Amino acid sequence: MKDVVIIGAGLAGLVCAQQLKHSGLNVSIVEKSGGVGGRMATRRLQGTWVDHGAQYITVRSDGFGRFIHKLQEAGIVQQWTRSVHRLTPDGLFPPSADEMYPRYTCPTGMTSIAKHLAADQKVTSNTRIVSANLQDRKWRLTTEDRGQIVADAIVSTMPAPQFLPVFEAVLAPAPAFLKAVKSVKFSPNITIMAGYPKGTPVSTEWKAIRCVDDPILSWVSHDSTKHPQEITQPIFVLQSTREFARKTLEEINLEKAGQPLLNQASQLLATWFSKPEWWQVHRWRYALVEEALGVACLSTEVPLPLVCAGDWCAGSNLEGAYQSGLAAAAALLEMLA
Ligand SMILES: Cc1cc2nc3c(=O)[nH]c(=O)nc-3n(C[C@H](O)[C@H](O)[C@H](O)COP(=O)(O)OP(=O)(O)OC[C@H]3O[C@@H](n4cnc5c(N)ncnc54)[C@H](O)[C@@H]3O)c2cc1C
Repeated sequence: MKDVVIIGAGLAGLVCAQQLKHSGLNVSIVEKSGGVGGRMATRRLQGTWVDHGAQYITVRSDGFGRFIHKLQEAGIVQQWTRSVHRLTPDGLFPPSADEMYPRYTCPTGMTSIAKHLAADQKVTSNTRIVSANLQDRKWRLTTEDRGQIVADAIVSTMPAPQFLPVFEAVLAPAPAFLKAVKSVKFSPNITIMAGYPKGTPVSTEWKAIRCVDDPILSWVSHDSTKHPQEITQPIFVLQSTREFARKTLEEINLEKAGQPLLNQASQLLATWFSKPEWWQVHRWRYALVEEALGVACLSTEVPLPLVCAGDWCAGSNLEGAYQSGLAAAAALLEMLA
């Protein structure tokens, strides 16, 4: 039986693993962080869940719709809202009719989708792949703690800029493949999770706001409305614009990098935003794809079977990652047939 290693336990990697396992391959997943989900990320804070990566799921294709529907039936996904307000320099506006469509989230945080998909998979976490080589017609991956992983084929779902330092040397015989990966650009993001005292006069008019043309803020959401069954304090998630994140990318003090977001929300929305009871900052160096490749996945048999997948291939969101994971599995099965 062929051994396939998938690098990355985000949505693309997990969906791909599920398909390959159903097809009878020996699949294992290697993940650098301590848990699964990748950028579909949730932090356990103050006894509740706060999504600090992907905020919600939207559905365009029938196939992804069926996937989400099954998760809804299993109680893992629920509709959160149909409406995201818009904050412009002229004020706060409700969505127009064509901007009203379902946004799905998870009652126990977005990572619960990943946990569900990973339940019957072999996932080795806390294992970062640092280099890739070839030996005896097999891939040989080296981990940060100098471990070796041998495989017949690899699916990498690392964001393109994280893939390059690991694979660039070994892919010298595949220059077109490398050129495509190098063309992908990601933007960074600074995300704040902030809790406010019970009794804060929170607006019930909106659950989420997309900020248009603001130099600092791009998104504000009332995250605790995703868990109405939890009696908790109001918790908000704020995201920066990519321009602001780029300027503060090398700031060592994360609180210093994040404070302007709270101040801006305080000026634009309600003064209490600048005085949370507690808050945390997360910096995403590779947050959102600026321009996806426009192909479902990227594959090569030279020097050995390798498929790249992820939101940077098919489309820059969770649905794109899902489609790419499926396409990667199909491409690999064809190569190994
Ligand atoms: C702040 C933010 C907000 C977002 N909001 C939304 C939203 O509202 N809706 C939406 O649809 N999408 C949103 N997205 C995008 C969405 O999160 C991604 O499109 C999707 O999660 C990408 O999945 P993926 O599997 O392609 O990649 P990832 O989730 O990035 O998975 C890749 C995995 O590879 C692992 N990895 C990387 N390098 C190595 C290595 N060397 N060794 C081992 N493992 C490695 C990573 O740890 C990660 O787990 C958001 C993203 C961010 C950051």
